[in-house]
Amino acid sequence: MSVKSSVFRAVTAADRVDYPALEMTIQKWWDEHGVLQMYLHRNEDSDKQFSFLDGPITANNPMGVHHAWGRAYKDLYQRLKTMQGYKQRYQNGFDSQGLWVEVEVEKELGMQTKRDIEAYGIDEFVQRCKERVFTFAKRQTEQSIRLGYWMDWGHDYYTLSDENNYTIWFFLKKCHERGFLYKGRDVMPWCPRCATGISNMEIESEGYKETSHLSLYVRFPLVDHPGEYLLVWTTTPWTLAANVAAAVHPDLPYVKVEQDGEYYYLAQELLSVLKALKGRDKGDYHVTQTLKGSEMLGWSYRGPFDELPAEQGVVHTVVPWKDVSATEGTGIVHIAPGCGREDFALSKEFNLSVVAPVDEFGVYTDGYDWLTGQHAAEVGQQIAENLAQKGLLYRPQNYKHRYPTCWRCKTELIFRLVDEWFISMEELRYEIMDIVGQINWIPAFGLERELDWLRNMDDWMISKKRYWGLALPIYDCPQCGSFEVIGGKDELQELAVSGWEEFEGHSPHRPWVDAVKIRCRKCNAEVSRIKDVGNPWLDAGIVPFSTLHYLTDHRYWQQWFPADFVTESFPGQFRNWFYSMLVMSTVLEDTAPFKTLFGYATLVAEDGTPMHKSKGNMIVFDEAAERVGSDTMRWLFANHIPEKNLHFPRIPTDEDMEKAAQTGLPV
Ligand SMILES: [Zn+2]
Ligand SMILES: [Zn+2]
Repeated sequence: MSVKSSVFRAVTAADRVDYPALEMTIQKWWDEHGVLQMYLHRNEDSDKQFSFLDGPITANNPMGVHHAWGRAYKDLYQRLKTMQGYKQRYQNGFDSQGLWVEVEVEKELGMQTKRDIEAYGIDEFVQRCKERVFTFAKRQTEQSIRLGYWMDWGHDYYTLSDENNYTIWFFLKKCHERGFLYKGRDVMPWCPRCATGISNMEIESEGYKETSHLSLYVRFPLVDHPGEYLLVWTTTPWTLAANVAAAVHPDLPYVKVEQDGEYYYLAQELLSVLKALKGRDKGDYHVTQTLKGSEMLGWSYRGPFDELPAEQGVVHTVVPWKDVSATEGTGIVHIAPGCGREDFALSKEFNLSVVAPVDEFGVYTDGYDWLTGQHAAEVGQQIAENLAQKGLLYRPQNYKHRYPTCWRCKTELIFRLVDEWFISMEELRYEIMDIVGQINWIPAFGLERELDWLRNMDDWMISKKRYWGLALPIYDCPQCGSFEVIGGKDELQELAVSGWEEFEGHSPHRPWVDAVKIRCRKCNAEVSRIKDVGNPWLDAGIVPFSTLHYLTDHRYWQQWFPADFVTESFPGQFRNWFYSMLVMSTVLEDTAPFKTLFGYATLVAEDGTPMHKSKGNMIVFDEAAERVGSDTMRWLFANHIPEKNLHFPRIPTDEDMEKAAQTGLPV
């Protein structure tokens, strides 16, 4: 056996190859020979198929290397299946609606609040949002091609498409027919800058920061026991203006303590608090009585802001609450049902007044005297001074805690009483739990994670009081209180009594779709669409239906549904994309929307800390591709154990490169 020596040519040593340059040559060769098109059509006539469904990338910024990780997997799996002769859809998706786009456009235009958007014009603003999406979709396409990601570029799906939006309408109508959709009055986490409610899904993913707040120890004078006070602690002084009750644990031991001729009640286990708060202006204290929380129930006290018009007629009493603990504070909890979730639940149980003090911008409304017009976030100090003047402040203290912030703009959230729209999960959660077993979860612990979320999640809040997003097709009759959900464009046209001409020819977005009014079926009144837009996970959750033309080409949908394979980074998606697809598929078809789910972990910086634009340790894709090459990255990704976080190595700098050239050592 002999081989002609001319077969082998000298090659550059592996650590001397200019990979980025090499890749450019290869990509050029692909282009010149139409290799991508050959690939896409290679198995067109095959009788076996593999249905891949792409989780849409948010088209709002250039890709980072963390996007490249997921996209490298997507490409790897699809290529393998192509080589094995499977016919496939190579459709990439762009996620295009929602607050994330709005916030960036607001920044571009130098806007501070929602009022600026209204003044600018919703139509113009929405137009800008669309443009931003197309701009970044183009950019991400170029980047993906640079990654060597072979997809049917130019035939992507966009969640802003009419088909996507109308298919969600269809889904919502189904929810309504089954009685799942309801308008809820509840206290929700709220961003006062974005002026919208933030769902629990969004907070749990990325919404906390370590911060310090002014907390207050306040005394509430007991009406029937002169000289005696409930000692109460709060970390949100602004909510004291909405106080209606104080809660104790009925089974917990409390003490009555004498100090400087006055008497305080607090939990026995928290007596140490008095020692810690002592200081020169307060004398020694001693316990004069021990009692159970249950003995304090029904006591009435003077509220800290009884003089405010909004507090007139409120009777302040002590109520029982099993969640009161003796771990911090005083064991007596200030209750403001208009500013706290659990507080609101208690108000329903004990028929307490509900005082809701702030508007959508977190500003006190009328009825709060000197507080009216002020921002809740800014009044802590003034509240403390006012209470001190009234003799009700025991002690102010700075308090460090983890506090929820807006995932988009980082503003601290408040809790606010609002009317929002929800999909009830009471029944649905069990129906979903029945189908998740059909799915092959990789890694296997994914199933338990999803079940854990399904067991514990609240109802799904689907509304947002914003502009750029799915127009929720809900028509809430102001006259008779019934509401209608429209399942599609034709149905809207049928029921329209005015505004159709204005809407026709536009996408189903605000403000155009809002022009259409319908007639209430019950009372004949003219009804407008509610102003809210939808939660963006509705947009991504519907793609197993919309992108496969569930409503417009049902046979095609049958051919490709359910997907054989989906893949995304798992930490957040159990309660986001995976979850929303499961909800929608359960309601529409009572079956799993995908057969295999392959999840991978999180990409972090070299030192293991999260990558963030604001921290300056985020690596943009182009930088990595230009310096080390796409294939090097893909090799790194393909070699990694997917369920482990990937510590992305630092990209060599110019200096590193120069040094390597001089010393001859690899970078
Ligand atoms: Zn915000
Ligand atoms: Zn009506």
